This record gives sequence, structure tokens and C-alpha cells, in this order.
Amino acid sequence: MITKGEALARIASALDYPLPTEFRPLHDALGAVLAADIRSDVDMPPFEKSSVDGWAISAEGHEPGRRYGILERIMAGTMPTRRLLAGQTSKVMTGAPLPEGANAVVMVEDGEEEAESVILRAKIRPGQNVCHRGEDLAAGQIVLAAGTRIDAVVLGVLAMVGADPVSVFAVPSVCVIPTGDELCLPEGPPPEGAQIRETNGVMLRAQVRGVSPILRAFSPGIARDNPESLRNFLDVGLDHDVLILSGGVSMGDLDLVGGALKERGLEVAIEKVAIKPGKPLLFGRVPRPHRPPAFVFGLPGNPVSSFVTFELFVFPFLRRLLGEPFEARPEEPATYAGTKSIARIPREQHLPCAIEVDATGALRANPLEWHGSADLRGLVAADGLMVVPSAGPALEPGMPVSVIRLPGHRPARARATHRGGGH
Ligand code: AMP
Ligand code: MG
Repeated sequence: MITKGEALARIASALDYPLPTEFRPLHDALGAVLAADIRSDVDMPPFEKSSVDGWAISAEGHEPGRRYGILERIMAGTMPTRRLLAGQTSKVMTGAPLPEGANAVVMVEDGEEEAESVILRAKIRPGQNVCHRGEDLAAGQIVLAAGTRIDAVVLGVLAMVGADPVSVFAVPSVCVIPTGDELCLPEGPPPEGAQIRETNGVMLRAQVRGVSPILRAFSPGIARDNPESLRNFLDVGLDHDVLILSGGVSMGDLDLVGGALKERGLEVAIEKVAIKPGKPLLFGRVPRPHRPPAFVFGLPGNPVSSFVTFELFVFPFLRRLLGEPFEARPEEPATYAGTKSIARIPREQHLPCAIEVDATGALRANPLEWHGSADLRGLVAADGLMVVPSAGPALEPGMPVSVIRLPGHRPARARATHRGGGH
């Protein structure tokens, strides 16, 4: 069995080729990662621009109370047609170009307009309420660096510089396949006999979307615990860039996923990791002719194990495949705020906890009542996972411990009272 760190290193090094790139339209690029630096093809603003609705004048000839003849009215999107002479103004709207001869704008509220003239009582300095050509960005300038993840603001900037479509690292296709004879569909009739409802499919697909809004996982249904069903589902799954299977990877008589994958040429990188929950974890590549390999994760079937191993291993891998650096979810220092000691076991434990921030900003990890890898409901109130290493003395109340924050859960916050208190 290998450690979590070694497993992460093997996952990171499985991606040993340059990532392919593709062009995507901006309306379908949120969450992708820029594959190249982006340069502006325009100055912004592209001309001397008024930042207010007001009166364009030459600041030098101005005295408060002076009367100006109105030459024209310039709307955003139209060019001025006339040059200002002494004692003249043009009315400009926000975003409109200044006329020649103007270098400042008096706000419209500060003018007393009558017929074709206006009295401007305000003081004004040159440049007031004017944005200069190219002051935000200059044509040719790099405005976004390769490697930037596209968020709402980045999308707006890409639109501003006309980078539509935009070159990004190719978005991988992801497939999620739960396996097990005992599983029935959540939308179907209630389970009978020894059946249970399938929970990992919707959860894992949501976790995939949690990596980036650009990712969607496809799911062809539940594979059954026999070689033929697994073969059929692998035909579909291995056509995707990343295949995430759940169940069938431990030591049971019908844990056939590993065998079925090896039949397809799986180059095994990981088979077992010394963590709890989640010891059985399969990871490797299946070579494909004329294409990059398919990457396969076989996650343990217990729902909490599936959830946790996704966050620990699949999450950083998918981010890397999207073009971001490989970074495991950070472990942050905290204090163990439970009341009972936690014994070490030969595996690194990840226990659901509620994270609290104390008055000094330090984190406190409160254990939650939880019954083990099948108890998904016990995870509902968790903000994070408390990481208890395999070696050393038992973890006692008040001792330092590290925590991994869980995504999509309540952010850690100051709490007046403790929650939970298991262990
Ligand atoms: P396995 O890893 O296939 O041995 O499954 C371990 C445990 O998790 C068994 O109790 C399974 O019934 C359960 N299990 C496996 N897959 C799922 C799933 N997709 N949804 C809910 N429970 C599952
Ligand atoms: Mg199974």
C-alpha cells in the first residue's frame, strides 16, 4: 500500500504529454483555462472619452459662471463633427468621444442650460471627467496570461479585446459509471430485498461540475457485476478522456472492475492507498490508438469513500487536465476541538468535521457524529475533513491537527457554540 502523498505524485506524473488545445466560443468557455497569452487589439478607451454626461469645454479658457454656446450633442457611439472654439461647448454623453478643442467635461448637473447656451458655474481642471485613450489598456499589450482560468470578469475582458473564440486547453470529456448488482435507480420504485439505491452517480457528477463549470460528466447507467456488463460499459466509458468508476475495486468475489480494465490494457499506477475511508483505489491509463490515453479512476463503492477519494485524487487531476497546476486540496493547520481521543490506525484517516474560526482567526476542528464509509448523511453537516496521520500517539483534545475544507459546504465561520461532538 502506498501513502496519499505517493498516490498524488503518481497521479500528477501520469499526465506526461502537452495538453491539447481548442478554440471555444466565449458563451461556452466559463471555467476553461487560457492556452495562450491574450493581447489586446484595441486601445481602451479607443479615444478621449467623457466619463460623465456633461459639457465638454477647454479648461484653460474657463471661469466659473461663464456662458457657452452649445455647438452639438454627442451621443455614445457617434463621432463629434465640430471643433470647439473659445466660448463654445458640446454636450457629451457618458462614453462619447470628446470633440477637438475640449480637454475637460463639466457634469450636466453643474450647468444651467437655456436655449442654445449654458452657464457653467463649477471650477474645472484640465482632464477632469475625461478618460484618456489607451489608459486602461493599449493595443498589443498582454491583458491575460496563459494559464488564467476563465471566470466572469475574464470573459468580459476577452470580449473587450475581441478574443472570441478563445484558445483554451481542451476540455476533457468525463464519464461516471457506478457498478454493482445491488444498485437500483433512485428515480425508480423503492428497492426490494437486498437492493439499495444508487447514490454515487449523481454525487460524482456533481463533484465533477464542482471542479469547473466547464466540466460535465456523462453517465451511461449502472454497470452490473459480471464481465459482460462491465465490458459493455467500458466500451462506452473508455471513449471518454476520464472514466470514473465506483464500486467493484476491493477484494470481494464480484469486485471485477480491475480485471475488466486490465483486459483493456490498463497501465496500473495505483491499486491501494493507505487512507481511511478509501483504501481500494484504482488509477491508471488505458492507451488508445491515435489519441491520448483514457485515464481511469476506480473509486471504492461506499458513498463516503467515493466522495472523499474524488476530492483527494480526482479533483486535482481534473484541474490539471483542464490546464491548471496540479495541486492537492490544501491541508490547513487547526486544533482538534473534540472531547474524545482518536486512536491512530495504520492508515491516514479523514474524518468529517465542522470547522470553526475562533476570534484570532485560528481554525478549530469539531468531529461530527458519523458511522463510517456508508454513512453519507453523516457528511451533510461537515465543512471539512480532519486529517489524522497514521503514525504517532493518539490525537487528544487540544492537539494540532490539519483540516481539508470541503467544497460547496458552508464556509468555515465563527460559531458561538460547538456542533457535533462524536468520538
Ligand atoms: P464495493 O466497493 O462495490 O464493494 O461496494 C462497497 C459498498 O458500497 C457496498 O455496500 C455497496 O453496496 C456500496 N455501494 C457501491 N456502489 C454504490 C453506489 N453507487 N451507491 C450506493 N452504494 C454503493
Ligand atoms: Mg460492488
